[in-house]
Amino acid sequence: MNNLIFWFGVSTGISLVATVQYLVSLREQHQQPTTISTSYKNVPEKSQKQSNEKNLSAVATRPSSPIRGTLLASLDQQLTVTSSKLQKIVLHMVSEFKKGLQNDNEQLAMIPSYVVNRPTGKETGVYLALDLGGTNFRVCRVNLEGYGNIRMNHAKYTISEELKTGTGAQMFDFIADCVAAFCRDNNIPTDNHISLGFTFSFPVLQTAINKGTLTHWSKGFTCSGVVGVDVVDLLQLAFDKKGLKINIKALVNDTVGTLVTHAYTDPQTYIGVILGTGTNAAYVEKSHNIPKWNRDDGEVIINTEWGAYNEPSILPLTTWDRNIDRHTSNPKQQIFEKLISGLYLGEIVRNILVDLIKAGELFSGNGSPALNIPYQFDTAYMSRIERDHSLSLSDTRQLLEDVLNVPNTSYDDRRIVKHVCELVGTRAARLSAAGIAALVTKINRLDACTVAIDGSVYEHYPHFGNRMRDALQEILGITAQNIVMEQARDGSGQGAALIAALA
Ligand code: ADP
Ligand code: MG
Repeated sequence: MNNLIFWFGVSTGISLVATVQYLVSLREQHQQPTTISTSYKNVPEKSQKQSNEKNLSAVATRPSSPIRGTLLASLDQQLTVTSSKLQKIVLHMVSEFKKGLQNDNEQLAMIPSYVVNRPTGKETGVYLALDLGGTNFRVCRVNLEGYGNIRMNHAKYTISEELKTGTGAQMFDFIADCVAAFCRDNNIPTDNHISLGFTFSFPVLQTAINKGTLTHWSKGFTCSGVVGVDVVDLLQLAFDKKGLKINIKALVNDTVGTLVTHAYTDPQTYIGVILGTGTNAAYVEKSHNIPKWNRDDGEVIINTEWGAYNEPSILPLTTWDRNIDRHTSNPKQQIFEKLISGLYLGEIVRNILVDLIKAGELFSGNGSPALNIPYQFDTAYMSRIERDHSLSLSDTRQLLEDVLNVPNTSYDDRRIVKHVCELVGTRAARLSAAGIAALVTKINRLDACTVAIDGSVYEHYPHFGNRMRDALQEILGITAQNIVMEQARDGSGQGAALIAALA
C-alpha cells in the first residue's frame, strides 16, 4: 500500500516531500512514534522507498547511552534553514545590494562590469578566452557563428597548490605558457593580435572593460604581488615576455560571462550565478539605480560579489562553519561562499563527521587518518554518497572504507554519513536560492526572469537544483514559477569571448 502511494505520488508529479511526509505520517499512525525528528525529504526516491522505515529507526534508535546520539539528534536543528530564516536573508540581502550600489567599500562590492550591452545573437568571429575559476584553468577558442550559435574547443589545466600560494608572476607565467601551448596545438597564430577575453573569477574592482585591480584573493589563492594591481597588466606582461601578440579586450567575471552567454540565446536572462569552487552572482541593473557610478542612462551588468555576504545575526552559522572559517586564508571574509560552495561543503561534512566520531556516535568512535586531514573530503564525495541509491549503500561503503580508510562501517553509520551530506548540501542549495530570490526581488522581475547557472556544484551535485527550486517556492510562493533556472554550461569561457566581441 505504501509503495503504491509512493509511486503514485512520484508519477503524478506530487512533490516528493509531500509524498514522503504522507508516508511517514501513515507510519506514525500505525506504529510507535519515533523519538527523533529526522528530515528525510531529500532522500533519493529508490532508497526512500526501500528503506524508509529502516532508516528512521536506524537513526532514531542508535543512541545507547545518554551521551551517544546527542550530537546526532541536534544536527537537523543546527543545519536546517527554515522558510522564515530564508525570508529574512532575502530582505536583508536586498538592502545590502542597495547599499553596495550607493557607496564603495560596503559589504557587497556591487561592481559595475562595464558590460553595458547584452548580445544580440548576431555577434561573429573567432576569439581566445581564458577561464581562471579557482580549481581549473581553461584556454578556449570560441567561434561565434551568429544566430545564437557558439562553437568552442578548450584545454583544461590544473592549478597546483604551489601556484595558488606562490607569486603572481609565477601564476601569470603559467597562464601564458598554457596559452602558448594551446595556440601551438590548435594552429592559432599568436603574431596577429587575436582578441582575447579573460575570465578572472576573483573580486576585481573594474575600472574599464579591460582594466581592473584585485581587491583581495578568495578560494584559497594567496599569490603575492597581485592585490591592488591591474590583472590585465600582469597578463599582458606575461604575454610580452613570451612574445605572444594577443589583444586583451575584456576582463570578465565568470558570473558576468555566464549571464551574457545565456542572454545570447535567451534575452530574458537577467541573472548569472556561479556555484563552483566559490559562489557569486551578476545581474542587469539600470544605471540610474547606481548612485556610485554616475551614469544616468542605459544599463550595466553588476558583479555583486555576493560570496562576501555576512550578517552574523541572520546567517545560520554553526560551530563547524566558524571553525573552518578561522583556519582559512581569509578569515571572516566570504562567509556566504563558505556555506555554499564546492571548496567548503566537503570540509563542513568532514568536520561534522570527525565530531560525531569523537562523540562515539559514528563508526563506533573509530575514524581514519585520511578523515582527519583538512579538505580531504571532497565535495564530489558528497555527490557520490547522495547518488548512492543501493540497498546497503554499497558505494558509500566503498568510498568510506576503500578511499578514506575507515576500518569498518555499519549500515547505520553510512545512513548517518548520507544524512549529514543531505543536511549540508540542502542548506547550501537553500541559501543559494535565497540569493537568487533577493536579486529577482531587487530588479523586480518576479513576472519573468531566467537565471543562468554555471559551476560543478550546480551541474553535478544531485538534487541541488530541485532543492533550490523548493526553497524558491517557499520564499516567493507561486511567483517562483516565473523564475527559470537553467544550466549554462561553459558560460564562464564563452562569455569572455562574447564580451570581447561586444567590446
Ligand atoms: P571553477 O570554480 O574552477 O570554475 P568548477 O565549476 O568545476 O570550477 O567547480 C569546482 C568545484 O566543484 C570544486 O570545489 C569541487 O569540489 C566541486 N565539484 C567537482 N565535482 C563535483 C561533483 N561531482 N559534485 C559536487 N561538487 C563537485
Ligand atoms: Mg568556472
